[in-house]
Amino acid sequence: MGETGLSSSSFRERMVRTDLEGAGVRSRRVLDAFMSVPRELFVPSRTGLAAVYGNHPLPIGFGQTVSQPFIVAYMLELLSLPPGSRVLEIGTGSGYQTAILAAMGMEVVTVELIPELASRARRTIMEFMPDADIRFLISDGYRGWEPAAPYAGIIVSAAPLSIPSALEEQLDPKGGCLVLPAGGFIQKLVKITRAGEDLTMQESLTVRFVPLIASDDR
Ligand code: SAH
Repeated sequence: MGETGLSSSSFRERMVRTDLEGAGVRSRRVLDAFMSVPRELFVPSRTGLAAVYGNHPLPIGFGQTVSQPFIVAYMLELLSLPPGSRVLEIGTGSGYQTAILAAMGMEVVTVELIPELASRARRTIMEFMPDADIRFLISDGYRGWEPAAPYAGIIVSAAPLSIPSALEEQLDPKGGCLVLPAGGFIQKLVKITRAGEDLTMQESLTVRFVPLIASDDR
């Protein structure tokens, strides 16, 4: 129970109805996945449920944050992939979005630069959904993850200044789709769709993500 006496699932219902559906998210599969994943498992344990389910980012340590629920839902709706698709996620972080992808029935390959975050996310998810199809990797997301390419979808949770070419190259030539924030102080959410060697780019919301760290900066 939360400080108001409401349970985690009632907070989740409110979030799904108000912050996601209320803001235009329509995909049933996305909404159901948000309903099934307890966000409190992925943030520091003393965070009250009202804050856990607020429509804002939350700190997860190492200077990183778990994104606001609406943005995660919006990006997943932009990807619009059928269950069973192979998805590359760059920036595992808390593992919250990883769990949502798994709950949507995706085959997930997730890459994180900070080993402590990767292992904590792995532990949390394996306890809560032991049968999920997820590979956790510690690597530099700028390079994607070639061994499991091509991907039907690639989703990036931190912003590079420009679009990493390795990610475009690892998209499935038959309609693979990349969704990422790009830019410095002002970032745009970008969707890139690949058809053979052609890439189509579509810009959407202005967003504010942590930067995608160039691994030689660390
Ligand atoms: N999807 C995450 C969001 C985490 S914030 C969640 O739901 O919690 C972005 C994450 O990207 C951070 O964990 C950060 O460590 C990671 N990151 C930053 N630069 C990276 C890089 N070059 N390669 C892989 N991960 C990176």
